[in-house]
Amino acid sequence: MKKTKALYEGKAKILWETDSPDYMVQEFKNDATAFDGTKHEVIAGKGVLNNRISSHLFGLLKDKGVRTHFIEKISDNEMVVERLEMLRVEVVVRNVAAGSICRRLGIEALKRFDPPIVEFYLKDDDLHDPIITQDHIRIMELATQEQVDQMRSDALTINTVMRGFLEQRDMVLVDYKLEFGLKGDELVLGDEISPDTCRFHDAKTGEIMDKDRFRQDMGGFIEAYTEVLERVSS
Ligand code: ADP
Ligand code: UDP
Repeated sequence: MKKTKALYEGKAKILWETDSPDYMVQEFKNDATAFDGTKHEVIAGKGVLNNRISSHLFGLLKDKGVRTHFIEKISDNEMVVERLEMLRVEVVVRNVAAGSICRRLGIEALKRFDPPIVEFYLKDDDLHDPIITQDHIRIMELATQEQVDQMRSDALTINTVMRGFLEQRDMVLVDYKLEFGLKGDELVLGDEISPDTCRFHDAKTGEIMDKDRFRQDMGGFIEAYTEVLERVSS
């Protein structure tokens, strides 16, 4: 498959059209951004690590019957994916309190949620990705009720699969963001699953192994992502 032209360049990835209308190449960049893009750095090695980690986690989900866009990893920093019409909705699942839920609701960090919480956000940088309800999704026609129900149920299936897999590797899946798209009428998981889009904590030490190291200027960023890769590929 040959890349033809860059269709979209985002903050962390480039989506390339290919000579096949059904497939795209998803290229992972070394750019790290946070706080609506106001914090930005280029971190050598990040793209390769996220491509590898994402490929492993998509492979795991595929094996468990989750419908994902992932076809195959084709180079250090690229994977072939099915081309989707992305929904303008981000789905966040939380097992443990961190980040915006603590700031927004005053919930104490590290509080456990059982059952997990599912939230929806509008994917819109200009509006700063606000949290939205299912009624907002309906009136804005972002997805049908059936698609909302399916996203929620897929997100919880993905949670069960990923949590178990990561627990066996001494990692706590704190929270994560998913993006879904449509292939015809079919809802398919797209985008990436990496320490950029998930929070992972070491189960024994509580050590942060994700993008919070960048957000909070903690250092040890590449070391933490490398450790995530080693554990997910073990
Ligand atoms: P952002 O748009 O937030 O800056 P990225 O740099 O991660 O994010 O860009 C990747 C873009 O590609 C996102 O907008 C995402 O919705 C989109 N995307 C992910 N998977 C697919 C797919 N299979 N088909 C089409 N678009 C996709
Ligand atoms: N997340 C993401 N992209 C976004 C917003 C959130 O990948 O645009 C991920 C984030 O890395 C975390 C989870 O979704 O794993 C929940 O993020 P939160 O709402 O706490 O926002 P934050 O304060 O971390 O930006």
